[in-house]
Amino acid sequence: MIKPDLHQGWKKPHWIAYAMAVLSVLAAIIIAELMSRLLHAEPSALLMLLCAIILVAWLGGLGPALLAVALALLAFHYYLVPPINTFAWKHNVFAVAAPQLPRLVLFGVALLFIAFVISAQRKATENLRRASDELQAAIEDQKRTETALLRSEMYLTEAQRLSRTGSFGWNVASGEIIWSEQTFRIFQCDRATKPTLQFVFQRTHPDDRAAVQDIVQQASSKGSDFDHEYRLAMPDGSVKYVHAVARAERDASGSFKFVGAITDVTAAKEAERKLRRSETYLAETQRLSHTSSWAWDVRRREFVYRSLEAYPLFDLDSDGDTVSTQPFEERVFPEDRRRIIELVPRAIRDKTDFEVDFRVALSDGSTKRIHSVGHPVVNSDGDVVEFIGTHVDVTEQCEAKEKLQRAFDEIKKSEDRLRLVIDTIPTLVWRAGPEGVPDFLNEPALYYTGLSLDQAETGWPRAFHPDDKKGMLQKWTAIRETGTRGGLEARLRRFDGEYRWFLFEAEPLRDEAGNIVKWYGSATDIEDLKQTEVALRESQQRFRDYAETASDWLWETGPDHRVTRISEHVSAIGIVPSHITGLARWDIAADVDSEPEKWRQHRAMHDAHQPFRDFVYRAVSASGSPVYVRSSGKPFFDASGNFLGYRGTGTDITATIRADHAEEALRSAQAELAHVTRVTTLGELTTSIAHEVNQPLAAVIANAEACLRWLDHETPNLAGARRSAEWVIDDGNRASEVIRRVRALAKKTDIEKVSLDLNSVVKEVITLVQRELSNHSVSLRKELAPTLPMILGDRVQLQQVIINLMMNGIEAMEPVRDRPRELVIRSGQDETRRVFVSVTDCGVGISAENASRLFNAFFTTKSSGLGMGLSICRSIVEAHGGRLSACCNEGPGATFQFVLPLHQEDAL
Ligand code: ADP
Repeated sequence: MIKPDLHQGWKKPHWIAYAMAVLSVLAAIIIAELMSRLLHAEPSALLMLLCAIILVAWLGGLGPALLAVALALLAFHYYLVPPINTFAWKHNVFAVAAPQLPRLVLFGVALLFIAFVISAQRKATENLRRASDELQAAIEDQKRTETALLRSEMYLTEAQRLSRTGSFGWNVASGEIIWSEQTFRIFQCDRATKPTLQFVFQRTHPDDRAAVQDIVQQASSKGSDFDHEYRLAMPDGSVKYVHAVARAERDASGSFKFVGAITDVTAAKEAERKLRRSETYLAETQRLSHTSSWAWDVRRREFVYRSLEAYPLFDLDSDGDTVSTQPFEERVFPEDRRRIIELVPRAIRDKTDFEVDFRVALSDGSTKRIHSVGHPVVNSDGDVVEFIGTHVDVTEQCEAKEKLQRAFDEIKKSEDRLRLVIDTIPTLVWRAGPEGVPDFLNEPALYYTGLSLDQAETGWPRAFHPDDKKGMLQKWTAIRETGTRGGLEARLRRFDGEYRWFLFEAEPLRDEAGNIVKWYGSATDIEDLKQTEVALRESQQRFRDYAETASDWLWETGPDHRVTRISEHVSAIGIVPSHITGLARWDIAADVDSEPEKWRQHRAMHDAHQPFRDFVYRAVSASGSPVYVRSSGKPFFDASGNFLGYRGTGTDITATIRADHAEEALRSAQAELAHVTRVTTLGELTTSIAHEVNQPLAAVIANAEACLRWLDHETPNLAGARRSAEWVIDDGNRASEVIRRVRALAKKTDIEKVSLDLNSVVKEVITLVQRELSNHSVSLRKELAPTLPMILGDRVQLQQVIINLMMNGIEAMEPVRDRPRELVIRSGQDETRRVFVSVTDCGVGISAENASRLFNAFFTTKSSGLGMGLSICRSIVEAHGGRLSACCNEGPGATFQFVLPLHQEDAL
């Protein structure tokens, strides 16, 4: 038998249930038949069929059970057909015995009843089971809902905690306030605390309390939603920012309820504050660094954002409105703009960053340089939608860079120059490591020593003179130990083996820590200096010897002109050096009062710090005798030009002065003599002079008579008388002139130099000697230069010279009988443009024996001669700065000539 599984609630399909009904009935028939035949048991078909009906009704329900009842009734009917109680084959299937009919009906009713009961039972059981299942499902649903609720509450709590948002409810009528866990946390109180409005106000920051109370008051009275931010003053002293939002609801009773959320926005506030501050910093940084940021929309091809700093960067004003791209573009140099326009599409295509430098023309005409960096922003499709970047004002950097470049160039140039200088200066330059080992020599050093750079380390120390090496090494070590600049002198071998003295100087180079990293040095050739030093020493000694052996003494005075030093030699003239030290020259001199002008000028020269030469003064020796001193001195100064005093020499010229005095006396005697000579000469010229005077006087008389005759005419000829009278005047003047000249010659006057024409002097003399010439039958030839430059001279003295020379010539021709006596007088200029006058005769000439003595005083070959004429003439000519000479002619006779310098004005 199949046991139905009621609990499974298995539902058979209808056709199976009906099949099962058929099969159950069939199985019951078969089992009943088999039991009857095989076991010979009591006929049990009724029972079997009954069981089949029960089974079908239980498992298949009422429908299949009714089918089974119908089949069972048929089977039972067949069972009751004779032969009864068997299901063997029967021929007359409807031949049921009448007695069996009640049994059949009863069976049928019983079957129907059972079928109905079992079916009902089954349905009830099924319903019960279903109800139980539903209950179970409902319970599980309930459990699931509870779990979900629990989880959701947990999530909510967690969400509230994470979002720092608590929730609350407030019943205005009852005053009841409900807080979520997070709300308690926000207010920092435990859950046992009963939330009240009073507590909320108490926690509110005192500054916000009144505003909060006001908002709550209004909301509760009007039932309006509220949304506000305020601060809480926490028990630990901290301040919390909260944002409270609440929605009002009115309940059935008409009172308001508020449901809301409170969020701790302290972190957000802090972040906002930080953000604002960092924004301020960024703006300030951009302003200070002249940097602006921007965003450029690729599709719209325009800037969608520019920081404020962009405007001053492009010298544009921003009044809050966004300035369009065009003014910015117009500021950029056209060629730079073209470059940027070419650059951007490439950056878009390659999706790469770009950097570009461009120039901006400012309104004041200056140029700004900007460095721009752009970075592409790519959307999810991989397209560049935007470039963000910065503009940086790099004008100063560019200028600094250019300056730096120029400085680098300069440094490079100066480095090259320095290199050139180092290699071309006539000084040996060397460098050594901290240990003193040389590692560099400049070209001159290499050339001098004949070393190569590789040999510097060992070759340089070896090039020192063996005698100097030890001392040099000791000094070099000492310099290195002191670590300061130092020098030494030593001889260094030249490539050709010659040693020369050098001054070696070394200077350390230190790093930032003060350690010596190198020694730099120079070696200067001081060979010549050394030799000069020797020469100087010798020269000093020489001068010391001169000074010590010279008769002059040396002196030195201070700025106050008082003697500070004087050599011992001064004692030779009887002056004790210590007596005059500290005295000025004018304190020592004895002629200050007698010659005040001389001393005034001398002191003025001292005050003007001018040198003086050959200043002569009189002093008195210790013994009281006068001494004459000639002093020369020059001022000396220190390096700054400050006057320090005078240095000079003093000479005893007492003997010279005395000789001068003697000479002076001689000179006056000479002058006296010259006068005598002149007067003597005049005596000789008396006839000539008398003639000279007589002639105009005779003419005067003749003309006066002629004048009278003109007047005695019947008709006086006044014109003729006037002419004669004028001639009288002329002749009178001529006679007077002759007398004046004679008087001048006879007069003893001091020399008086004036500007003279020598030709006029010659002509005057000729007049005076005219008579003498004719008396001695001497013809005179004049070869005077038509013009002569003026000379400076004394007319009378020069007349005397010419007269002397002409008279000597006339006398020298006295013995001449065989040839005409001719005297030639010439004037002119020699090759040096000096004026000369020569007198040539054809007389006896000058014998070789007399030639050297002609000009000596008192030399004469004449019996009546004084022998002073030529001597005086020479003195006169030399006093005029000229020269008198005599020579023999090629033919007979002699020529005497004097030359005189030109007057200074003419010489120019
Ligand atoms: P003095 O005429 O009184 O002798 P001077 O000094 O004039 O003195 O002349 C000196 C001497 O020079 C003369 O005695 C004469 O011997 C010589 N002497 C001068 N002039 C001439 C001359 N023209 N020719 C030759 N001898 C001359």
